[in-house]
Amino acid sequence: MIQDARVVAGFTGAGISTESGIPDFRSPDSPWMRHKPISFALFLQSPEARRDAWRRKFAMDDLYRGARPSTGHRGFASLVATGRMPAVITQNIDGLHQESGLAPDQVIELHGNGTYAKCLACGTRHELDWVRRCFDVDGDPPDCRSCGGILKTATISFGQTMPEEPMRRAQKLTASCDLFLVAGSSLVVYPAAAFPAFAKENGARLVIVNREPTPLDRVADLAIHAEIGSVFSVFLS
Ligand code: NAD
Repeated sequence: MIQDARVVAGFTGAGISTESGIPDFRSPDSPWMRHKPISFALFLQSPEARRDAWRRKFAMDDLYRGARPSTGHRGFASLVATGRMPAVITQNIDGLHQESGLAPDQVIELHGNGTYAKCLACGTRHELDWVRRCFDVDGDPPDCRSCGGILKTATISFGQTMPEEPMRRAQKLTASCDLFLVAGSSLVVYPAAAFPAFAKENGARLVIVNREPTPLDRVADLAIHAEIGSVFSVFLS
């Protein structure tokens, strides 16, 4: 199907990073489920919620600091290198697609990026090392160095508006592809999960590689229930 395709859209979820050592969202004992997520509204309202959010963020970073791209990430990078896959649309926030060699414009991040912070008022980027040093000294996250606004990881929280440009780019790629390749997503988080469904309705073939069944398996042209590494290693040889 890849050989027959003119334009292949890649689409990944948390499952592509489990082989890098970062747990996914819905599997049993997931650390992401241990605490109730902090909504965007609460983050804005409450300094205590912001302290909590940053405390959790640094604890997670300590656990997954050594994570490196998996066979799946490297497989997608080699598909992009063929010129047939213009970009990978990802729900992940870990930056591992970029670490596997993809350029920033070859990764469309629907849920943002957790490897740096941004000011919610002026958008200025801040590095996490600096935020953490300030947090460790003051017990509070610092304010934006440019305008004094609130700093948050550059991720999209529950209740936060989806980012305009990545959504627009993902729509364009989905509409133009004739093969849509999903790896490692339960396909239950919307609006992200609407992209594979839309690609299929628009006439593209749909292939899903996921350990467990997904709600879109019944419309997919091929659903492979297997480990991503074992499937994607074929693109590395
Ligand atoms: P999900 O946790 O809902 O689903 C992951 C799917 O991947 C599951 O169905 C699981 O069976 C499958 N899977 C896990 N490891 C696999 C492997 N090695 N091979 C094959 N399949 C495997 O993830 P989602 O659909 O991406 O939605 C969760 C949300 O949580 C997303 O918004 C995402 O941004 C966020 N999240 C991101 C990260 C990350 O950046 N690494 C980690 C956890 C959660």
